[in-house]
Amino acid sequence: MKVPFLDLKAHHAPLTEEFDRAIREVIESSAFAGGPFVEKFEEEFASFCGSSYAIGVGNGTDALWLALLALGIGEGDEVITVPNTFIATAEAITYCKARPVFVDVDQDTFTMNPAELEKSLTQRTKAIIPVHLFGQPADMDPILEFARANGLFIVEDAAQAHGAQYKGRKAGTIGDAGCFSFYPGKNLGAFGEAGAVVTNDPELRKQMQMLRDHGQSRKYYHSTMGWNCRMDGIQAAILSIKLRHLDEANSLRRKHALEYNQAFAGIDEVLTPLEAKYARHVYHVYAVRVQERDATLRHLQEQGVGCAVHYPVPIHLQEAGRNLGYTKGAFPIAEKLADEFLSLPMFPELTEEQIEYVARCVSEAVGVEVFV
Ligand SMILES: *Cc1c(COP(=O)(O)O)cnc(C)c1O
Repeated sequence: MKVPFLDLKAHHAPLTEEFDRAIREVIESSAFAGGPFVEKFEEEFASFCGSSYAIGVGNGTDALWLALLALGIGEGDEVITVPNTFIATAEAITYCKARPVFVDVDQDTFTMNPAELEKSLTQRTKAIIPVHLFGQPADMDPILEFARANGLFIVEDAAQAHGAQYKGRKAGTIGDAGCFSFYPGKNLGAFGEAGAVVTNDPELRKQMQMLRDHGQSRKYYHSTMGWNCRMDGIQAAILSIKLRHLDEANSLRRKHALEYNQAFAGIDEVLTPLEAKYARHVYHVYAVRVQERDATLRHLQEQGVGCAVHYPVPIHLQEAGRNLGYTKGAFPIAEKLADEFLSLPMFPELTEEQIEYVARCVSEAVGVEVFV
């Protein structure tokens, strides 16, 4: 049997006619860069999140960067985040001329450990970026409390957490701004690159709208030096369609996660992800932890199972992060997770047979005989 890591074709197949019609509409109205389709999607996505505004941008990295810029983060500032995230979180900080400062994560949720914040606080700290890794929100209440007590902004990296919830509130709506990626493989994915920021702050929204469009307050009148971070009309039109199926797709991901968990129950060699009590996890990534990760990965690949590692090297140990001055051992939990994480196939259209097959292959690889 072959099980792909991700099957976008299966997800898109039932919607192709709708996509064709939507793309034709964009072509007919020539609204390619920004424009009415983007505005429509912004309203729909803000409403989905329960936020006042959404600002469509070019991708998730833009979203993080513009949110930080709009908050006034700049040279000499420090922004606290976690080392076990996609590089974009740290890139956005660096591209504001600020410095990423890392704190270790909680070993059960894999997200920012609020108890670690205090020791990373300096006079220069301006903001915190918790990352809702794999689709599970970070523990926001203590992070908010710490931010309030110290006058810090919170920018949520919700690039993997569309529709996830923290105590009933949507991920991305709890801090000052929430950043989303619509990279094709994300829970809500475009047909190319796209991203968005959500916020309840009208001033922040205005800043980001200007920054994404060359700092224009009106056409060819530039109040500030911005950049081009606009969202495409075609991407927005596609996202409007796919947004209507997001809740159902997330529910299926949750169902599959449960099926995996049950298949691995009683196998001590395979640690399954936990859903925090406060969370509705949306399993952008379903990652187990195994001791012999690389051998397990090889075995799965040989058996036709697509798998991946998110992420093999924490940012503080990447070549790109060398100048930040951290050494091995600085963040023991993040480092251990990087050695043990193994992401298994996860997408809404996954079948029970595929899940059973993947679980059997993993069990074989860790040396457990299974009878399913
Ligand atoms: C995907 C992702 C990003 C960046 O999004 P792009 O759209 O690829 O620029 C940022 N942070 C995290 C955690 C991500 O997974």
